[in-house]
Amino acid sequence: MRREEVPKFNDRKTCNLQLATPPSNSQLSTFSLPRYNNPVSTYYHSLAPFRELFRTGMPVLMYHKLGPRPRGVRLKGLYVAEKLFARQLAELRDAGFVTPPLDQALPVTKRSAPTVLLTFDDGFVNALRYGLPLLDEFKFRAVQFLVADRIGGINEWDRPKGEVMEPLMDDAQIRDWLAAGHEIGSHTCTHPFLTQLSPAQAREEITASRKKLEDKFGRPVEHFCYPYGDCNEAVRDLIVAAGYKTAFTTEAGVNTPADSPFALKRYMARYPSRNLKSFWTQPRARMR
Ligand SMILES: [Zn+2]
Repeated sequence: MRREEVPKFNDRKTCNLQLATPPSNSQLSTFSLPRYNNPVSTYYHSLAPFRELFRTGMPVLMYHKLGPRPRGVRLKGLYVAEKLFARQLAELRDAGFVTPPLDQALPVTKRSAPTVLLTFDDGFVNALRYGLPLLDEFKFRAVQFLVADRIGGINEWDRPKGEVMEPLMDDAQIRDWLAAGHEIGSHTCTHPFLTQLSPAQAREEITASRKKLEDKFGRPVEHFCYPYGDCNEAVRDLIVAAGYKTAFTTEAGVNTPADSPFALKRYMARYPSRNLKSFWTQPRARMR
């Protein structure tokens, strides 16, 4: 891929799908700020700062990779050590949080028991290896958003950024994930920036990924996750037309019944750091 073809992260459209008209720059700044204007709240490390906020709606945690971080990794924040993952699950369990199946958890309603959704993007083998035993131990359910044409492959979409390649779950490993009581959703066919594709290409990524996953694993795939959190109204309309019930973004915040089910917010779970070098948080960090 030539350099000028690599999309710039700060060109990303924000996923504010409540707006009827395209927002101005000043509106974008306002709408993109996290609800809790607190530096700790753009990502999740431990429950303490979120304890009250998480009871006001449906929090969703976003994970990518678990376990040891190989040398040379660029986006270090995408790895959560096994020990930290165990601590995060223990805290949630001790606070009474439950993880219902997606079709019970969504759409978001007011509920008595505190609820959280655990999501993993991309389908990495390390999430299965280190995550499955701990999810089982703590009796939590999770969803993997899979890249349908990269199953059993590697995260090729990260190669232009010089990222370390990691294996992705193959068919048998995804079946193990499902057999353990977890769920899958679609994360497109090839992990593109959807807003930068033609409408026909975007439609193909959205609809074909669903069909391929349903055909292969024999169960409904009704939930979608935007690669890089990249979406706009046209992409959202394609998601709706493809029959998905929900779509998850990378915007931080807790979801309430008033929010669009096609722009569900998530907190990125990671190790504690003041240095918000995640490519998603960069534009937001600059706006403060
Ligand atoms: Zn992804």
